[in-house]
Amino acid sequence: MKIVWFCIPAHGHTNPTLGVVKELTNAGHEVYYFSFEMLREKIERAGAVFISCDGFDFDIRDKNAADRVGKDIAFATELLVKATLALDEMISEKVKEIKPDLIVSDSIAYWGKLTAMKYGIPYVSSTTTFAFNRYSSRYLKRGAGEIIKMIFTMPKINKYLQLLRDNGYPVKNIYDIVSNDNETNTIVYTSKEFQPCSETFSDRYRFIGPSIRPIESEMKKTAAKTVYISMGTVMKNKEIYVNCIKALGNTDYQVIISLGDNSVEIEDIPENIGIYKSVDQMAVLSIADVFLTHCGMNSVSEALYYEVPLVMLPQTPEQGAVAKRAEELNAGVFLKNTGESAIISAIETILSNAEYKSAAKKISESFKRCGGVFAAREFLEKIYRGD
Ligand code: UDP
Repeated sequence: MKIVWFCIPAHGHTNPTLGVVKELTNAGHEVYYFSFEMLREKIERAGAVFISCDGFDFDIRDKNAADRVGKDIAFATELLVKATLALDEMISEKVKEIKPDLIVSDSIAYWGKLTAMKYGIPYVSSTTTFAFNRYSSRYLKRGAGEIIKMIFTMPKINKYLQLLRDNGYPVKNIYDIVSNDNETNTIVYTSKEFQPCSETFSDRYRFIGPSIRPIESEMKKTAAKTVYISMGTVMKNKEIYVNCIKALGNTDYQVIISLGDNSVEIEDIPENIGIYKSVDQMAVLSIADVFLTHCGMNSVSEALYYEVPLVMLPQTPEQGAVAKRAEELNAGVFLKNTGESAIISAIETILSNAEYKSAAKKISESFKRCGGVFAAREFLEKIYRGD
Protein backbone atom coordinates (compact mmCIF):
# COMPACT_ATOMS: atom_id res chain seq x y z
CA MET A 1 0.00 0.00 0.00
CA LYS A 2 1.12 3.56 -0.68
CA ILE A 3 0.77 6.00 2.18
CA VAL A 4 1.28 9.72 2.09
CA TRP A 5 2.07 11.11 5.55
CA PHE A 6 1.99 14.79 6.56
CA CYS A 7 3.36 16.46 9.66
CA ILE A 8 4.24 19.89 11.02
CA PRO A 9 7.88 20.91 11.60
CA ALA A 10 8.07 19.81 15.23
CA HIS A 11 10.05 16.97 16.75
CA GLY A 12 7.30 16.34 19.31
CA HIS A 13 4.74 15.67 16.56
CA THR A 14 7.12 13.72 14.32
CA ASN A 15 9.00 11.43 16.73
CA PRO A 16 6.02 9.29 17.78
CA THR A 17 5.12 8.63 14.12
CA LEU A 18 8.53 7.30 13.13
CA GLY A 19 8.13 3.89 14.78
CA VAL A 20 4.91 3.38 12.84
CA VAL A 21 6.56 4.50 9.61
CA LYS A 22 9.41 2.05 10.20
CA GLU A 23 6.98 -0.78 10.91
CA LEU A 24 5.14 0.03 7.66
CA THR A 25 8.21 0.28 5.46
CA ASN A 26 9.69 -2.91 7.00
CA ALA A 27 6.48 -4.66 6.02
CA GLY A 28 6.97 -3.54 2.42
CA HIS A 29 4.56 -0.60 2.31
CA GLU A 30 5.64 2.66 0.66
CA VAL A 31 5.55 5.79 2.82
CA TYR A 32 5.96 9.28 1.33
CA TYR A 33 6.51 11.69 4.21
CA PHE A 34 5.86 15.41 3.58
CA SER A 35 7.85 17.33 6.17
CA PHE A 36 10.67 19.81 6.67
CA GLU A 37 14.47 19.66 6.21
CA MET A 38 15.12 19.76 9.97
CA LEU A 39 13.47 16.33 10.14
CA ARG A 40 14.68 14.81 6.87
CA GLU A 41 17.34 12.58 8.36
CA LYS A 42 15.18 10.78 10.91
CA ILE A 43 12.33 10.37 8.44
CA GLU A 44 14.61 8.80 5.86
CA ARG A 45 16.11 6.58 8.58
CA ALA A 46 12.59 5.25 9.19
CA GLY A 47 12.53 4.09 5.57
CA ALA A 48 10.19 6.73 4.12
CA VAL A 49 10.67 8.86 1.02
CA PHE A 50 11.11 12.42 2.31
CA ILE A 51 9.33 15.23 0.46
CA SER A 52 10.32 18.74 1.45
CA CYS A 53 7.75 21.39 2.36
CA ASP A 54 10.47 24.00 2.88
CA GLY A 55 10.81 27.11 0.81
CA PHE A 56 7.11 27.93 0.54
CA ASP A 57 5.62 31.18 1.59
CA PHE A 58 4.59 30.66 5.21
CA ASP A 59 6.47 31.03 8.44
CA ILE A 60 5.69 27.88 10.36
CA ARG A 61 9.34 26.98 10.96
CA ASP A 62 9.96 30.15 12.86
CA LYS A 63 10.66 29.27 16.54
CA ASN A 64 8.47 32.07 17.86
CA ALA A 65 5.64 30.95 15.62
CA ALA A 66 6.00 27.38 16.90
CA ASP A 67 5.85 28.62 20.49
CA ARG A 68 2.73 30.69 19.72
CA VAL A 69 0.86 27.98 17.80
CA GLY A 70 0.29 26.00 21.01
CA LYS A 71 -0.96 29.03 22.92
CA ASP A 72 -3.01 30.99 20.45
CA ILE A 73 -5.69 29.12 18.57
CA ALA A 74 -6.61 32.06 16.26
CA PHE A 75 -3.00 32.56 15.26
CA ALA A 76 -2.56 28.81 14.74
CA THR A 77 -5.64 28.43 12.57
CA GLU A 78 -4.69 31.34 10.34
CA LEU A 79 -1.11 30.15 10.00
CA LEU A 80 -2.06 26.58 9.20
CA VAL A 81 -4.71 27.48 6.62
CA LYS A 82 -2.22 29.86 4.99
CA ALA A 83 0.32 27.02 4.90
CA THR A 84 -2.21 24.78 3.15
CA LEU A 85 -2.68 27.37 0.42
CA ALA A 86 1.05 27.88 0.01
CA LEU A 87 1.65 24.13 -0.33
CA ASP A 88 -1.38 23.46 -2.54
CA GLU A 89 0.29 23.28 -5.92
CA MET A 90 3.29 21.21 -4.85
CA ILE A 91 1.16 18.72 -2.90
CA SER A 92 -1.35 18.40 -5.76
CA GLU A 93 1.40 17.57 -8.21
CA LYS A 94 3.01 15.01 -5.92
CA VAL A 95 -0.25 13.36 -4.96
CA LYS A 96 -1.20 12.96 -8.63
CA GLU A 97 2.18 11.37 -9.22
CA ILE A 98 2.21 9.06 -6.17
CA LYS A 99 -1.49 8.10 -6.23
CA PRO A 100 -1.64 7.18 -2.53
CA ASP A 101 -4.08 4.63 -1.13
CA LEU A 102 -4.18 6.38 2.20
CA ILE A 103 -3.32 9.75 3.70
CA VAL A 104 -2.15 9.92 7.30
CA SER A 105 -1.79 13.40 8.71
CA ASP A 106 -0.89 14.98 12.00
CA SER A 107 -4.06 16.42 13.49
CA ILE A 108 -2.79 19.98 13.07
CA ALA A 109 -1.10 19.59 9.66
CA TYR A 110 -4.36 20.75 8.11
CA TRP A 111 -3.00 20.43 4.59
CA GLY A 112 -3.03 16.64 5.00
CA LYS A 113 -6.69 16.40 5.87
CA LEU A 114 -7.57 18.97 3.21
CA THR A 115 -5.64 17.08 0.54
CA ALA A 116 -7.53 13.90 1.46
CA MET A 117 -10.82 15.84 1.13
CA LYS A 118 -9.82 17.40 -2.18
CA TYR A 119 -8.87 14.10 -3.83
CA GLY A 120 -11.28 11.79 -2.01
CA ILE A 121 -8.49 9.67 -0.51
CA PRO A 122 -9.13 7.72 2.73
CA TYR A 123 -7.81 9.78 5.63
CA VAL A 124 -6.34 8.81 8.99
CA SER A 125 -5.56 11.35 11.68
CA SER A 126 -2.38 10.96 13.72
CA THR A 127 -2.81 12.59 17.11
CA THR A 128 0.32 13.02 19.15
CA THR A 129 -1.61 14.71 21.96
CA PHE A 130 -4.75 13.39 23.61
CA ALA A 131 -7.67 12.93 21.25
CA PHE A 132 -10.05 15.82 21.80
CA ASN A 133 -13.82 15.66 21.40
CA ARG A 134 -16.47 17.69 23.17
CA TYR A 135 -15.97 15.70 26.38
CA SER A 136 -12.19 15.50 26.58
CA SER A 137 -11.78 19.10 25.42
CA ARG A 138 -13.06 20.14 28.83
CA TYR A 139 -9.54 19.34 29.95
CA LEU A 140 -8.29 22.18 27.74
CA LYS A 141 -8.58 25.38 29.66
CA ARG A 142 -8.59 28.09 27.05
CA GLY A 143 -8.43 31.60 28.43
CA ALA A 144 -11.36 33.94 27.76
CA GLY A 145 -8.98 36.29 25.92
CA GLU A 146 -8.02 33.56 23.53
CA ILE A 147 -11.63 32.70 22.75
CA ILE A 148 -12.53 36.35 22.17
CA LYS A 149 -9.56 36.70 19.86
CA MET A 150 -10.75 33.63 17.96
CA ILE A 151 -14.13 35.29 17.44
CA PHE A 152 -12.48 38.45 16.14
CA THR A 153 -10.27 36.46 13.82
CA MET A 154 -13.22 34.57 12.34
CA PRO A 155 -13.84 36.97 9.42
CA LYS A 156 -10.20 36.62 8.40
CA ILE A 157 -10.39 32.85 8.73
CA ASN A 158 -13.60 32.82 6.68
CA LYS A 159 -11.74 34.64 3.94
CA TYR A 160 -9.11 31.91 3.96
CA LEU A 161 -11.82 29.24 3.91
CA GLN A 162 -13.25 30.86 0.78
CA LEU A 163 -9.78 30.77 -0.76
CA LEU A 164 -9.56 27.08 0.09
CA ARG A 165 -12.92 26.46 -1.62
CA ASP A 166 -11.72 28.43 -4.66
CA ASN A 167 -8.78 26.04 -4.79
CA GLY A 168 -10.94 22.94 -4.83
CA TYR A 169 -11.13 22.06 -1.14
CA PRO A 170 -14.72 21.18 -0.18
CA VAL A 171 -14.72 22.76 3.31
CA LYS A 172 -17.99 23.90 4.81
CA ASN A 173 -16.60 25.49 7.94
CA ILE A 174 -13.57 25.63 10.15
CA TYR A 175 -14.73 22.63 12.19
CA ASP A 176 -14.34 20.45 9.08
CA ILE A 177 -10.64 21.09 9.41
CA VAL A 178 -9.87 21.46 13.08
CA SER A 179 -12.04 18.81 14.67
CA ASN A 180 -12.28 15.06 14.36
CA ASP A 181 -15.45 13.14 15.02
CA ASN A 182 -16.17 9.51 15.81
CA GLU A 183 -16.17 8.73 12.08
CA THR A 184 -12.53 9.74 11.62
CA ASN A 185 -9.98 6.93 11.79
CA THR A 186 -7.43 8.14 14.31
CA ILE A 187 -4.16 6.85 15.70
CA VAL A 188 -3.57 8.06 19.27
CA TYR A 189 -0.17 7.56 20.89
CA THR A 190 -1.38 6.80 24.39
CA SER A 191 -3.44 4.20 26.24
CA LYS A 192 -7.19 4.22 26.80
CA GLU A 193 -6.42 4.43 30.51
CA PHE A 194 -4.45 7.66 30.19
CA GLN A 195 -6.71 9.25 27.54
CA PRO A 196 -9.38 11.34 29.29
CA CYS A 197 -13.00 10.30 28.58
CA SER A 198 -11.78 7.38 26.46
CA GLU A 199 -15.20 5.75 26.68
CA THR A 200 -16.65 8.57 24.54
CA PHE A 201 -14.49 7.67 21.51
CA SER A 202 -15.59 5.14 18.88
CA ASP A 203 -13.52 2.14 17.87
CA ARG A 204 -12.21 4.16 14.94
CA TYR A 205 -9.75 5.49 17.53
CA ARG A 206 -6.79 3.20 17.94
CA PHE A 207 -4.87 3.82 21.16
CA ILE A 208 -1.46 2.35 20.32
CA GLY A 209 0.51 3.64 23.33
CA PRO A 210 3.45 6.02 23.33
CA SER A 211 6.48 5.44 21.21
CA ILE A 212 9.55 4.98 23.37
CA ARG A 213 12.98 5.29 21.83
CA PRO A 214 15.73 2.92 22.93
CA ILE A 215 18.40 4.25 25.32
CA GLU A 216 21.45 5.23 23.29
CA SER A 217 23.92 6.54 25.86
CA GLU A 218 23.57 5.49 29.49
CA MET A 219 23.39 8.13 32.24
CA LYS A 220 25.07 7.28 35.54
CA LYS A 221 23.06 7.49 38.77
CA THR A 222 25.20 9.30 41.31
CA ALA A 223 22.81 9.79 44.24
CA ALA A 224 19.95 8.01 45.99
CA LYS A 225 17.42 10.36 44.38
CA THR A 226 17.67 11.84 40.90
CA VAL A 227 15.71 14.91 39.82
CA TYR A 228 15.31 15.55 36.09
CA ILE A 229 14.26 18.97 34.80
CA SER A 230 13.27 19.81 31.22
CA MET A 231 10.80 22.19 29.64
CA GLY A 232 10.91 20.42 26.27
CA THR A 233 12.26 21.63 22.97
CA VAL A 234 10.01 24.62 22.28
CA MET A 235 9.32 26.51 25.48
CA LYS A 236 11.34 29.54 26.47
CA ASN A 237 11.72 30.09 30.19
CA LYS A 238 15.00 30.96 31.80
CA GLU A 239 13.63 31.71 35.21
CA ILE A 240 12.48 28.23 36.11
CA TYR A 241 15.95 26.81 35.40
CA VAL A 242 17.72 29.50 37.43
CA ASN A 243 15.38 28.93 40.37
CA CYS A 244 15.84 25.17 40.17
CA ILE A 245 19.61 25.59 40.28
CA LYS A 246 19.30 27.87 43.31
CA ALA A 247 16.78 25.61 45.05
CA LEU A 248 18.45 22.29 44.38
CA GLY A 249 22.14 23.21 44.34
CA ASN A 250 24.26 21.61 47.09
CA THR A 251 21.51 19.18 48.15
CA ASP A 252 21.77 15.38 48.28
CA TYR A 253 19.90 15.08 45.00
CA GLN A 254 21.49 14.35 41.66
CA VAL A 255 19.98 17.03 39.42
CA ILE A 256 19.98 16.76 35.63
CA ILE A 257 18.81 19.78 33.66
CA SER A 258 18.12 19.86 29.93
CA LEU A 259 18.06 23.50 28.83
CA GLY A 260 17.10 23.22 25.17
CA ASP A 261 17.48 26.63 23.56
CA ASN A 262 17.42 28.41 26.91
CA SER A 263 20.58 29.69 28.50
CA VAL A 264 21.38 30.52 32.11
CA GLU A 265 24.14 32.82 33.25
CA ILE A 266 25.21 31.33 36.55
CA GLU A 267 28.81 31.07 37.62
CA ASP A 268 29.91 28.12 39.75
CA ILE A 269 27.21 25.59 39.02
CA PRO A 270 26.96 23.36 42.14
CA GLU A 271 28.54 19.94 41.79
CA ASN A 272 25.35 17.95 42.18
CA ILE A 273 23.83 19.65 39.13
CA GLY A 274 24.51 18.59 35.56
CA ILE A 275 23.42 21.06 32.90
CA TYR A 276 23.00 19.97 29.29
CA LYS A 277 21.61 21.51 26.14
CA SER A 278 20.00 18.19 25.35
CA VAL A 279 20.08 14.75 26.95
CA ASP A 280 19.16 11.21 26.01
CA GLN A 281 15.83 11.57 27.76
CA MET A 282 15.18 7.81 27.85
CA ALA A 283 18.52 7.26 29.62
CA VAL A 284 17.82 10.03 32.13
CA LEU A 285 14.27 8.88 32.83
CA SER A 286 15.49 5.34 33.41
CA ILE A 287 17.42 6.59 36.48
CA ALA A 288 15.14 9.50 37.54
CA ASP A 289 12.90 9.55 40.63
CA VAL A 290 10.99 12.71 39.79
CA PHE A 291 10.61 14.82 36.63
CA LEU A 292 9.91 18.55 36.62
CA THR A 293 8.27 19.00 33.23
CA HIS A 294 6.30 21.42 31.05
CA CYS A 295 3.99 18.46 30.37
CA GLY A 296 4.55 18.03 26.67
CA MET A 297 2.69 14.85 25.76
CA ASN A 298 5.88 13.04 24.76
CA SER A 299 7.82 13.93 27.86
CA VAL A 300 4.98 12.91 30.14
CA SER A 301 4.37 9.63 28.29
CA GLU A 302 8.06 8.79 28.37
CA ALA A 303 8.30 9.59 32.09
CA LEU A 304 5.25 7.54 32.98
CA TYR A 305 6.52 4.68 30.84
CA TYR A 306 9.63 4.72 33.06
CA GLU A 307 7.38 4.97 36.16
CA VAL A 308 8.67 8.46 37.02
CA PRO A 309 6.12 10.72 38.77
CA LEU A 310 5.86 14.38 37.82
CA VAL A 311 6.13 17.93 39.09
CA MET A 312 4.15 19.84 36.49
CA LEU A 313 4.46 23.32 35.00
CA PRO A 314 2.24 23.33 31.89
CA GLN A 315 2.39 26.37 29.57
CA THR A 316 -0.25 25.71 26.91
CA PRO A 317 -3.86 24.49 27.14
CA GLU A 318 -2.78 21.16 25.69
CA GLN A 319 0.00 20.70 28.24
CA GLY A 320 -2.53 21.75 30.88
CA ALA A 321 -4.81 18.91 29.79
CA VAL A 322 -1.99 16.39 30.07
CA ALA A 323 -1.12 17.72 33.52
CA LYS A 324 -4.71 17.64 34.71
CA ARG A 325 -5.05 14.01 33.66
CA ALA A 326 -1.77 13.03 35.36
CA GLU A 327 -2.92 14.77 38.53
CA GLU A 328 -6.29 13.05 38.36
CA LEU A 329 -4.56 9.68 38.21
CA ASN A 330 -2.26 10.71 41.06
CA ALA A 331 0.94 10.50 39.01
CA GLY A 332 1.96 14.11 39.54
CA VAL A 333 1.51 17.42 41.34
CA PHE A 334 1.28 20.92 39.91
CA LEU A 335 4.07 23.34 40.68
CA LYS A 336 2.25 26.15 42.47
CA ASN A 337 4.69 28.82 41.35
CA THR A 338 8.25 28.96 40.07
CA GLY A 339 9.76 30.15 43.36
CA GLU A 340 12.50 28.17 45.09
CA SER A 341 10.42 26.99 48.03
CA ALA A 342 7.57 25.81 45.77
CA ILE A 343 10.08 23.80 43.73
CA ILE A 344 11.58 22.12 46.80
CA SER A 345 8.21 21.44 48.34
CA ALA A 346 6.72 19.83 45.19
CA ILE A 347 9.77 17.61 44.71
CA GLU A 348 9.68 16.53 48.37
CA THR A 349 5.96 15.77 48.13
CA ILE A 350 6.58 13.40 45.23
CA LEU A 351 9.63 11.76 46.74
CA SER A 352 8.14 11.21 50.19
CA ASN A 353 4.92 9.60 49.03
CA ALA A 354 5.17 6.22 47.28
CA GLU A 355 1.64 6.53 45.88
CA TYR A 356 2.83 8.81 43.10
CA LYS A 357 5.35 6.26 41.89
CA SER A 358 2.81 3.44 42.03
CA ALA A 359 0.27 5.52 40.06
CA ALA A 360 2.93 6.14 37.42
CA LYS A 361 3.66 2.40 37.36
CA LYS A 362 0.00 1.62 36.74
CA ILE A 363 -0.08 3.96 33.74
CA SER A 364 3.18 2.47 32.51
CA GLU A 365 1.58 -0.97 32.56
CA SER A 366 -1.37 0.33 30.53
CA PHE A 367 1.09 1.67 27.93
CA LYS A 368 2.83 -1.68 27.72
CA ARG A 369 -0.49 -3.45 27.10
CA CYS A 370 -1.20 -1.33 23.99
CA GLY A 371 -0.35 -2.88 20.66
CA GLY A 372 2.25 -0.23 19.68
CA VAL A 373 3.44 0.13 16.11
CA PHE A 374 2.19 -3.32 15.21
CA ALA A 375 -1.38 -2.33 16.13
CA ALA A 376 -1.01 0.85 14.07
CA ARG A 377 0.09 -1.11 11.02
CA GLU A 378 -2.78 -3.57 11.37
CA PHE A 379 -5.19 -0.66 11.73
CA LEU A 380 -3.95 1.03 8.55
CA GLU A 381 -3.96 -2.23 6.59
CA LYS A 382 -7.55 -2.84 7.70
CA ILE A 383 -8.60 0.61 6.51
CA TYR A 384 -6.83 -0.02 3.20
CA ARG A 385 -8.66 -3.30 2.72
CA GLY A 386 -11.89 -1.52 3.59
CA ASP A 387 -12.97 -3.89 6.37
N1 UDP B 1 13.93 15.49 24.40
C1 UDP B 1 15.17 14.84 24.36
N2 UDP B 1 16.20 15.40 25.04
C2 UDP B 1 16.09 16.55 25.76
C3 UDP B 1 14.82 17.18 25.83
C4 UDP B 1 13.76 16.62 25.14
O1 UDP B 1 15.33 13.81 23.72
O2 UDP B 1 17.07 16.97 26.33
C5 UDP B 1 12.80 14.88 23.66
C6 UDP B 1 11.85 14.20 24.60
O3 UDP B 1 12.28 12.87 24.88
C7 UDP B 1 10.53 14.26 23.85
C8 UDP B 1 10.66 15.54 23.01
O4 UDP B 1 12.04 15.89 23.01
O5 UDP B 1 10.38 13.13 23.00
C9 UDP B 1 9.86 16.71 23.59
O6 UDP B 1 8.54 16.54 23.25
P1 UDP B 1 7.36 17.07 24.17
O7 UDP B 1 6.08 16.68 23.50
O8 UDP B 1 7.53 16.61 25.54
O9 UDP B 1 7.58 18.64 24.23
P2 UDP B 1 7.82 19.79 23.13
O10 UDP B 1 9.29 19.87 22.98
O11 UDP B 1 7.11 19.37 21.86
O12 UDP B 1 7.24 21.01 23.79
